[in-house]
Amino acid sequence: MRTRIITDLDDVLVKSMPAFIYWLSKELGKRVHISDLLSSNPEEFFSKYGITLTHASVDAQKQFFSDERNLENLKPYGARLDRLNCSVITGRGYEVEGVTKDWLRKNCRFEGVVIMTNWDSEYNHKKSDYILRSSPDIYIDDNAQILAEIRAMDSERRTLLRLVTRPWNQCSLRGIKDESYIKRVKGFQEAVSQGV
Ligand SMILES: [Mg+2]
Repeated sequence: MRTRIITDLDDVLVKSMPAFIYWLSKELGKRVHISDLLSSNPEEFFSKYGITLTHASVDAQKQFFSDERNLENLKPYGARLDRLNCSVITGRGYEVEGVTKDWLRKNCRFEGVVIMTNWDSEYNHKKSDYILRSSPDIYIDDNAQILAEIRAMDSERRTLLRLVTRPWNQCSLRGIKDESYIKRVKGFQEAVSQGV
C-alpha cells in the first residue's frame, strides 16, 4: 500500500509567511521584518510589534487568510503531489476553500482532499485530533506545537511526524529528542522521501 501522507498547507507548500508579513506591515503602518522571527518565538515576535498572540495576531492572521485576494498569487515551494497518496489539511476557513483548491491544482498538481479546519469552528484547535483519528503514515507541519500534541497522544507511534524547519520554529522542539518518529526536515520533499 502506498504511504499515506497528510500535510499542512501554509508554509509547508505555500510561501505564506512572507506575504503575511508584508500585509501586516501595511496594516500596522510599520515595517515588520521576517528576520525578526529568526531568534524569537511567536509570542516575542508579536509582542515586539505590540500585538498579543492570543487575540490580535490570530485576528490578523484570520483576516489575511480569509481574503481570497491575498491567497491567489502566493508563491509555491515547488512540491508536486500528483503521484502521492496525500491529503492537505489547513486552518483556513471554508470561505476560501475554492481559491485554496484552485491554487493547489495550479501549483502542486493536486486534485485530492483538502481538509478545511476553519479558524472559527470547533475544529480549529483539533487539527491534532484529526491526525490521530486518521493516523496517516506521515504528517508534515511547520507548527511544532501541533506535532508535540500528536506526539503526546500517539502512544503507538503510528504516524511519523515531520517538522519543516522555518525561521519561526527554530527554537521549538527543544525539549523533544530528535528521533525517527519525530524530526526536522528542510521541506516537504525530504519529509516524503524519508517516510517511504
Ligand atoms: Mg503551516
